[in-house]
Amino acid sequence: MNNTPRLETLARQEPWRQGVGLPQNALDPTWIPGPGDALCDGQIDWEGSTRWWVCQKCGFIGSATVQRHKPTKSPIGFFLESVDFFVRRQRQRTSAPSADTILGQALFIAGVALRYAAVQSDIGQYAMRMVTR
Ligand SMILES: [Zn+2]
Repeated sequence: MNNTPRLETLARQEPWRQGVGLPQNALDPTWIPGPGDALCDGQIDWEGSTRWWVCQKCGFIGSATVQRHKPTKSPIGFFLESVDFFVRRQRQRTSAPSADTILGQALFIAGVALRYAAVQSDIGQYAMRMVTR
């Protein structure tokens, strides 16, 4: 029988619920100031007697005693935001590639990331390793 708390399992399967992969501060070169920086004001529900909790407003899952968190981003919203960020940054280069080349680069990088994510036992840990610190 699996005694792992349900929220711990969900956080492992859906690491975006813990803010994994997002810049933590302005020192991160991918950080962009915006409304997503404001802390969430949602109510949290604790999972029984475990140390895990979930925000009822945004779905963030935490295990710390501090419940302050930035709102969770949906995977589709995060993906589209990331594509937009990639395209903008590539266009700012002095020798900017063509739009078709930028699209090809974006698809290539997504393909590489997905291919190696497929053989990971923990995609959250994998995503954390890709974040520049
Ligand atoms: Zn929240």
